[in-house]
Amino acid sequence: MSESETVVIGGGITGLATAYRLVRAGIPVTVLESSDQLGGLGTFLPYGDCWVERFYHCVMPTDAHLLALLGELGLRDEVRWRGTSMGMVVDHAHFPFNSAIDLLRFTALTPAQRIRFGLVSVSLRHLGRGRDLDRTRTGDWLRRLYGEEIWEKLLVPMFGSKFGSGFADVPALYLWQRLGRERNVATRGYPAGGYKSIVDGLRSAIESGGGHVRTSTPVRRLRVLGNALHLTVPGGAGLTYDRVVSTLPLPLLRELAEPELARRLPKTRLPYRGVVNALFFLRRPLAGHYWTPVVRSGTEFDGVVEMSALTGTRCGRHLAYAMRYTDQGAALHAEDEAAVAERWTGQLLRLYAGLGLQREDIDHVEVCKAPFVEPVYPLGYLEQRPPVEVPGTGLLLATTAQVYPAVTSWNSSVGLANDVAARVIGDRRAAFRGAPSA
Ligand SMILES: Cc1cc2nc3c(=O)[nH]c(=O)nc-3n(C[C@H](O)[C@H](O)[C@H](O)COP(=O)(O)OP(=O)(O)OC[C@H]3O[C@@H](n4cnc5c(N)ncnc54)[C@H](O)[C@@H]3O)c2cc1C
Repeated sequence: MSESETVVIGGGITGLATAYRLVRAGIPVTVLESSDQLGGLGTFLPYGDCWVERFYHCVMPTDAHLLALLGELGLRDEVRWRGTSMGMVVDHAHFPFNSAIDLLRFTALTPAQRIRFGLVSVSLRHLGRGRDLDRTRTGDWLRRLYGEEIWEKLLVPMFGSKFGSGFADVPALYLWQRLGRERNVATRGYPAGGYKSIVDGLRSAIESGGGHVRTSTPVRRLRVLGNALHLTVPGGAGLTYDRVVSTLPLPLLRELAEPELARRLPKTRLPYRGVVNALFFLRRPLAGHYWTPVVRSGTEFDGVVEMSALTGTRCGRHLAYAMRYTDQGAALHAEDEAAVAERWTGQLLRLYAGLGLQREDIDHVEVCKAPFVEPVYPLGYLEQRPPVEVPGTGLLLATTAQVYPAVTSWNSSVGLANDVAARVIGDRRAAFRGAPSA
């Protein structure tokens, strides 16, 4: 490795997409990934002869950055699109939640509330235009438009589970953007070869372009060394680079940075929400809805994603994910996976007992956890977003804390990777132009 190389820390989608762009521009690059798998939050686990994502993932038709990248990798036509539906479980009652008729039959709200919900929802994007939603609390905006009951019974379970009780305080711009991404469209996509095919495609494009990808290589320390950055990796080896792109969540990066570098990192300290997720391998489908928020129905998880509604069976099984977003310090995060699997299995059986779900329908359960999933944005975050460059260090940041107001997703990660790579490429070209000729 040499100083003219750029190193990318983290082999999730942001790191891989950044490295891919750099290699395409002829810049030598090495990706350092701590785990033995690439893909970050989009990683997968083996089941029989197949690989399945640890956490549910799908592509939206509006994911322009990701779809363009898939096009370059020859994978765009591999995305299978399908219309999906949504359900709701409120106080143990199951509802479909897709059409005006469904809304009119949604007895968890009074008839007047159903009409109000429908009318406000169709004009919500329009109502947000021209407002400073970055400085408006979601709770203030939506409670005013929908009323307290709809906020509590519907909006918090539908949109707030990632943030918990903090949802009311998140800037309304986040929700407005999310509605734009989803555009009330039920069409979702999934690559025929799973998310692993995207990760494999990126790795092979990086390596065939001359880049290096090193898994099981956690960066342990990072310090400023003159105009360059010095990285410590296992075995005590030290590597020095003039350009480093970090894709780690900022709290993790702070832990690695020696004091001189830590002082220069962005001052904004965002709390993050993590997730606990149970993946059920089932011998039969549940209700057939891709997404079902679950409210006050005796479960610790607050939603179910029935992946097979989008992908069909995988490895001969119907896959369903039950998820709970939590603070990293929550007891659930520290709990033994087997205990969570057993308890949530009982809760899933009770939840779908009316549809005849039996214990023998559940072949296998995997519980997966991730501590850093969703930054919890403060009001006015547009102006507080960490800049890409950490001044005077050669370190560039490409993290989920920077994609706001876009929703954290593979699409926004690829968009950010494009921007960061463009900056590195631009700097190299400027340096090349400024170099004295031989
Ligand atoms: C439950 C769930 C559902 C989701 N659903 C969707 C969806 O449907 N569609 C969608 O597009 N997105 C979805 N997402 C979001 C998406 O997965 C993330 O936004 C995206 O993966 C973030 O990518 P990243 O590369 O920035 O971060 P990460 O994926 O977190 O990658 C960071 C990488 O850095 C590595 N690392 C950490 N420390 C070190 C170190 N010291 N040295 C070297 N490497 C290190 C990690 O192992 C990891 O591989 C979902 C996420 C979750 C958790």
